Amino acid sequence: MGLSNHASTNSTHTGGKDNAKNDMTQGLLDAMPRPTLVIEPSGKLGLANKAARKMFGEAIQGRHYITVLRQPVLLDAVEKAMSERESVQARYLTTEAQRDVTLLAHCAPIEPDGGILVVFEDHTALEEAGQIRRDFVANVSHELKTPLTALIGFVETLQGAARDDPDSRQRFLGIMHKEAGRMNRLVGDLLSLSRVEANERVRPTTMIDLSAIARAAVSSLAPLAGENDVSVTSDGLESPCMIPADPDQLAQVVTNLMENAIKYSGKGTSVSVSLRREDDHPMTRGPAAILTVADTGEGIDALHIPRLTERFYRVDSHRSRELGGTGLGLAIVKHIVNRHRGRLKIESKPGQGSRFSVILPAAP
Ligand code: ADP
Repeated sequence: MGLSNHASTNSTHTGGKDNAKNDMTQGLLDAMPRPTLVIEPSGKLGLANKAARKMFGEAIQGRHYITVLRQPVLLDAVEKAMSERESVQARYLTTEAQRDVTLLAHCAPIEPDGGILVVFEDHTALEEAGQIRRDFVANVSHELKTPLTALIGFVETLQGAARDDPDSRQRFLGIMHKEAGRMNRLVGDLLSLSRVEANERVRPTTMIDLSAIARAAVSSLAPLAGENDVSVTSDGLESPCMIPADPDQLAQVVTNLMENAIKYSGKGTSVSVSLRREDDHPMTRGPAAILTVADTGEGIDALHIPRLTERFYRVDSHRSRELGGTGLGLAIVKHIVNRHRGRLKIESKPGQGSRFSVILPAAP
């Protein structure tokens, strides 16, 4: 057939032309980034481009497609495309550099030759994105369901058994207030997250004073620190530190980091908020503002650190919920820092406290 490298011709004077045509076809296929191969009407593999040879091996030409493609779903698709002369798609699973890869194989009839062209398209990222979305919806539903179930239960109790008991009523209303607050915080954090994600590609240009924002956060969290018996110190917040940023988002970064430090450190500990400027920082390749929130709390085990910024990831779910956490605070911080082209650095040792540093590009 015309698309085969092994194509031979009886006519000597057209042989040169055919070879040139085959080289051209091979060259064209090799230039295509997606693994592509041709199955001849006999079932043998004809042309295969570079990407396909990388995937299935160099010596596949001339072998029967069943021994190369192997996976039943794909074999069925090729067979159907072959017999019914119509395009058929099938999933093909493989591993590449120890990573699971999902490919979509498009099998299309080649007319008038009678062969099949198989083109593989990498669907891994798409499938992973789908999985992340499904997990996220499942997590949100679960997080909302718990306080909602509690609220419904207490409403029913107040309508029935506790209707005429003022003490129980008071106590149940207190719990209902707490649960409703939890849902409110969760919805608030979800909205923040979606707002930050929506404009993550838009880099802020307005110049703001990070010192002033950090000072405001320190004073607004003084009551929470007092309630938790945590002392807060600050360093370097006196002189202005100008950076291109969204002021509300930066306030949220400082607040989330400070709230965590105060919440998770426990009574009698201390939290420090410090800000310094470096004229030439390797991360920003220029001036940078470095804001650090450090605590003397229990610290975090190294195995959790890389996952802390994932949505709903908590070291101790029960404790986080008890303390009013939504599991979204650090995910929001990470997205805001990304939008500002900065970096979040987490250092911690169990028993020795934690340091969360945000490195942001600063004004020259
Ligand atoms: P949460 O709403 O649960 O606080 P975050 O995303 O803000 O969610 O934090 C994720 C988890 O990281 C927390 O549940 C907690 O286990 C851990 N964590 C965050 N900050 C600290 C800290 N300063 N000290 C100890 N653990 C922390």
